[in-house]
Amino acid sequence: MDAADKETLGKLIRKNKRLARDLTRIETVFNAILSAIVVADSNGEIQFANNFAESILGLNGGRPSIFKLLPGMDEAVAAVSRDDSVVMREFKITYPEPRVLSAQIIPFNFGSSSDTYAVILNDVTQDRRSTEERIESEKIASVLNLASGVAHELGNPLNSINIHLQLVKRRLMKFSDKIDADVLASISDSVEICSSEVLRLNGIIENFLKALRPMRPNMAECDPIKPLAETLKILNEEFVNLNISVDVDSESPLPSVCADEGLLKQLYFNILKNAMESMEQGGKVAIRAFSDDDFVKLSFSDSGCGISEEDLSRIFEPYFTTKPDGHGLGMMIINAIVRAHGGNIDIESKRGFGTVVTVSIPRNERRVKLLS
Ligand code: ADP
Ligand code: MG
Repeated sequence: MDAADKETLGKLIRKNKRLARDLTRIETVFNAILSAIVVADSNGEIQFANNFAESILGLNGGRPSIFKLLPGMDEAVAAVSRDDSVVMREFKITYPEPRVLSAQIIPFNFGSSSDTYAVILNDVTQDRRSTEERIESEKIASVLNLASGVAHELGNPLNSINIHLQLVKRRLMKFSDKIDADVLASISDSVEICSSEVLRLNGIIENFLKALRPMRPNMAECDPIKPLAETLKILNEEFVNLNISVDVDSESPLPSVCADEGLLKQLYFNILKNAMESMEQGGKVAIRAFSDDDFVKLSFSDSGCGISEEDLSRIFEPYFTTKPDGHGLGMMIINAIVRAHGGNIDIESKRGFGTVVTVSIPRNERRVKLLS
């Protein structure tokens, strides 16, 4: 090797070192970005994923096909190569967590034989959720308004029917000596049946209005297990008759919550009733109470029929029911109670295996901290 070769070699080594340094810098920048960046080829094979992509897509160092990770990505890539343009698309993923990701797919070529794409993903779950929640609460509010209006209107004619039935009864008594005893008895029976049905209708309407009335929770510090124990006592006989075992496992001591005890009872009652109704004879209900820094959580798992994916997206809708004699208001009430407490609700279900409903209620200290 002569002097000129040595100099060229030295230059090459220095250049290589510089390139390696630049690459590390670029990688550091890529890994610090709070967007997921993935480079994949047209077969979906991932060639690069930054740290954020690793975590949001749950890669754990593995390199599964991006077509599997993001269902619909193959079509998006086909569209990119067809039109040779940048494509924006949203993807819904369920693993490792349910999220909505907005993706920008940019074609580029490293001079390799197959096309390469950079996919930039942003987590828009929160934005979408708040829009959906707003629409949902507006929809619920308008239905409730309408329903309570109708229910209220029904009260007046019912009242009048009731008064007239009383009048019929009284007049009938006046003529009791002029009418055949059998005929009198049969008319009286019919009037009695009408009266009791009117009373029943009145009860339904009253309960209905109670369920729809805007909630003004009476908040106080309380132990979330106490109303649970009371609810279980009320439902105990039904559980025993159906041969359903109920198991409660609570972290102890469980932090207190700031809640309306009566509403908590209503919340537990509705969840447990649904669990009960999802099972045939001989099922299992397991209740677990635990806490993290912010919330006390109660999870109710049942070994019932489970909820299909399609139904799961509709169960909070008013009047949605899959039961022949269901009213479809329970889940809506559950949702309203949890929200009135600043908590949230989580449902996991698999058709044929069962359902886990987890409610999170803010810990009392957290509320005190927020207020101060
Ligand atoms: P209802 O009980 O009157 O049907 P809800 O609002 O309480 O009304 O529930 C709505 C629907 O949600 C039910 O009809 C059922 O399909 C589904 N559901 C709720 N909880 C469960 C559960 N634990 N297991 C299976 N399905 C459930
Ligand atoms: Mg119900």
